[in-house]
Amino acid sequence: MAACGRAGRQVSEITLVAVSKTVPATRIREAIEAGVRTLGENRVQEAAAKISELGAIAAAYKIQWHLIGRLQSNKARRAVEIFDAVHSVESLKLAERLDNIAGESGKRLPVFIEVNLGGEESKAGVAPDGVLPLCEQISKFSNLELKGLMTVPPFFDNPEDARPFFQRLRRIRDRAWQAGAAGEQFKDLSMGMSNDFEVAIEEGATFIRVGTALFGARR
Ligand SMILES: *Cc1c(COP(=O)(O)O)cnc(C)c1O
Repeated sequence: MAACGRAGRQVSEITLVAVSKTVPATRIREAIEAGVRTLGENRVQEAAAKISELGAIAAAYKIQWHLIGRLQSNKARRAVEIFDAVHSVESLKLAERLDNIAGESGKRLPVFIEVNLGGEESKAGVAPDGVLPLCEQISKFSNLELKGLMTVPPFFDNPEDARPFFQRLRRIRDRAWQAGAAGEQFKDLSMGMSNDFEVAIEEGATFIRVGTALFGARR
């Protein structure tokens, strides 16, 4: 809220993705009762079990389940079945597969391209100079809705150090948008976690992915 005020932004522009990886279904239920409407999971199998356990309450509250972690191609079918959005598209091959499966299921799947800004080998995502071409290619897929870009910057103790990464993701989005590489719906920035979501909001995040600040430390 305070970060929205500082940045002159409306709270309604920002979707909180409550990251519930490792959190048991009983606690997710409490979070839903407390007002959470979008949940983020990073593993397909773990998510599938919780989504089926929470089926009734999730349907009653129209819960959205977002995949935020790396997706292996052999799990793509299950992912399309259970998730309402995928934040972690990082290759044309994966996008193609998601598009095919979504088409077979008569679904239109919202997706984000994950961008690796820190150049860290261990991190997922496409390199910045790969974003525009991938945007152009994904935009041609009729069963995917390319919403925007996602990033996980390197971890810093001081959240201010993450700011240049968030600024950079925003500039890449602006450039892709101006170049006409993606459609009108391409405007979202999925960035900011427990430690740095306020800075991310100041820099234009429209989806923040917050785990430990909501659910406590993971085991
Ligand atoms: C775990 C995770 C988060 C949430 O991290 P916290 O620091 O617990 O808020 C956000 N995004 C991704 C991709 C994650 O894997």
